[in-house]
Amino acid sequence: MNIGRGKKNFSLPLLFLLFPLSSWVFPLPDIHYIRYIRYIRYIRCRTSLTPMTTQETLFSKIIRKEIPADIVYEDDLALAFRDINPQAPVHILVIPKQPIAKLADAESEHHALMGHLLLTVKRVAEQLRLSNGYRVVINSGSDGGQTVDHLHLHILGGRQMKWPPG
Ligand code: AMP
Repeated sequence: MNIGRGKKNFSLPLLFLLFPLSSWVFPLPDIHYIRYIRYIRYIRCRTSLTPMTTQETLFSKIIRKEIPADIVYEDDLALAFRDINPQAPVHILVIPKQPIAKLADAESEHHALMGHLLLTVKRVAEQLRLSNGYRVVINSGSDGGQTVDHLHLHILGGRQMKWPPG
């Protein structure tokens, strides 16, 4: 009885030989690289789930300081910056940091925020010394002439306003 005698089992040494070879041909991803990819996926997932992205506008980017703006006032809830295409010597936009698309979308839960925006208008007007008065405009929806879908209050000042507006 010499079953198996003389027959050498080369499968194990072959495996040891092939493993480094295969990892040279198909390099195994580095553990840090895998973690990095997972992290990127996680961040992408998080940002795609936030309400910001569903109403992503230029103003969201201004809030996140991804595009420049001439900011004149900022607090936790609101941001005020100069309009890029001013319709008066002073033309400021006051926006909530929370992305509400338009005035018509405001709900009772936004009660305090709405009050805060109006008080921000007053504060900014004082800061810019609009002591002779100013006009506050909110365009809501397409008939209202709204072009950016992020609620904003225009402060127009530094000249005599006319009525009716166009
Ligand atoms: P509305 O027409 O009421 O939606 O107002 C949008 C306002 O946003 C316009 O007066 C634009 O001139 C102004 N605007 C658009 N893009 C920018 C920007 N990047 N920085 C400042 N103001 C902007």
